[in-house]
Amino acid sequence: MTGLYVHIPFCPQHCPYCAFAVLTGHRHLYGRYVDAVCRELHLCGMAGLGPFHTVYMGGGTPSMLAPHELEQILNTAALAGGIAAGAEVTLEANPTTIEAEKFADIRRAGFNRLSLGVQSFSDADLKLLGRFHNATECDAAYRRARRAGFGNISIDLMFSVPGAPEAHWTRTIEHTLDLAPEHISTYSLTIEEGTRFAQRREKGDLTPVSEAEDEWGYAWTMERLERAGYMQYEVSNFARQGYRSRHNWGYWTGVPYIGVGLSAHSYVHGQRQWNVREVETYLSLVEANRRPYAGCETLKGWEKRQEELWLQLRTCDGVQLDRRECQALERAEKFEAMRRSEWLCLDRQRLTLTRQGRMLADTIGLEIAALIEPHAG
Ligand code: SF4
Repeated sequence: MTGLYVHIPFCPQHCPYCAFAVLTGHRHLYGRYVDAVCRELHLCGMAGLGPFHTVYMGGGTPSMLAPHELEQILNTAALAGGIAAGAEVTLEANPTTIEAEKFADIRRAGFNRLSLGVQSFSDADLKLLGRFHNATECDAAYRRARRAGFGNISIDLMFSVPGAPEAHWTRTIEHTLDLAPEHISTYSLTIEEGTRFAQRREKGDLTPVSEAEDEWGYAWTMERLERAGYMQYEVSNFARQGYRSRHNWGYWTGVPYIGVGLSAHSYVHGQRQWNVREVETYLSLVEANRRPYAGCETLKGWEKRQEELWLQLRTCDGVQLDRRECQALERAEKFEAMRRSEWLCLDRQRLTLTRQGRMLADTIGLEIAALIEPHAG
C-alpha cells in the first residue's frame, strides 16, 4: 500500500485565520507548477512502492486549477507509479460557484472523492472567516458535486467561530446532516500566531470563544454526529460505514506515502523527507531534473514509537502496547487517575480514548508517552 499526496499551494486569497504558507495571485505560474509536479513524479524513485492506493490533492486550493491540469497530474501519477484499481482519489475543493462548474470535468478526470472546504453554513461565520463563498453557494456546490457523480463527499467544518458559536454551529451541523455527506471533518478555530486573526486579537478587535464554549462545541458534535450514524474514527473525523478517508488513515497508521509539490512531505522506507518551501526554488530545482528536497530524517527507536503512539491514540482503534508499556502504565498513579476519570480504556494491551478523552487527546498523548518512555523515572 502506498499513498500519493500532491500539494497545490495556490489560494484565491489568504484567509485571516490560516497559518499555512499559501500563494495568492501567481496565476501565471499554474501551468509551470503543474509541469513541475509531473516532472517530480517521474523523478521520484517508485521502485517497489507503486501502485498508489490513495491519491490526495490538497493545498492550498487545488480546485483553482483547470480540470485538464488536474487530469495531467493524475495521468502522470498513473504512468510514474500506477494508480491501483479502486483507489481513493480525492480533491480538496472550495464550494464556490466557479469551482462547482468544474466538478463534472473533475469527476471525468478520475477523481472519485471530493473534500469541500465549507467551514460553516452561517453567512455571518463565513464573512468573519474571510471565506470567498456564502452558505447558499456551499449548498449549491454540494448538490452540483452529487449531480456530477461524486458518491463520496467530505465536508470540512469549523466550530468555535466567535459571534454566536452555539446557534451557528448547531445550524451548520443540522444543515450538513440534511445534505448527508459520507464524511465530515470538524475543527475548532484556533488563533495561530502570525495570522491576521492573531493581530486582531492583540488589538482587542476579536475575542475568541471561551474554553467552555469550545468544549461544548466539540462534545455536542461528537454526540450529534454519532446519533446521526457517523462513526468518529479519529479525533476530528466522522464517517458513514465504509467511508473513512483511506488516505488519512494511512498517515495515522504508518502507510508509506510520496508527497510531491511545494513543501510536500514523504514517508518511505522509514524515512521522512520534505520539499523546499519557496516556489521559485522548487520550480528551478525540478526543471533542472533535481529532487526538490529540503531535508530528511529517519525516526528510530523511542522517537518513532512516540509518533506512532500520538497518531494512533487519536484513532478509534487506539494503539497496541507491548507488555513493558502496559506495566509502566499500570504502575503509574497518573494513569490510574486518567482511567478513573474515564478518559481512556486499556483492554488486552490496546489503549483507546473514550469520548471524554478525545477532548484532551493531545494532553493525554503527551502524558502517556512520558509514562511509558523507556528510561522515564
Ligand atoms: S483556502 Fe484554506 S489553505 Fe487557502 S488560505 Fe484559506 S484556509 Fe488557508
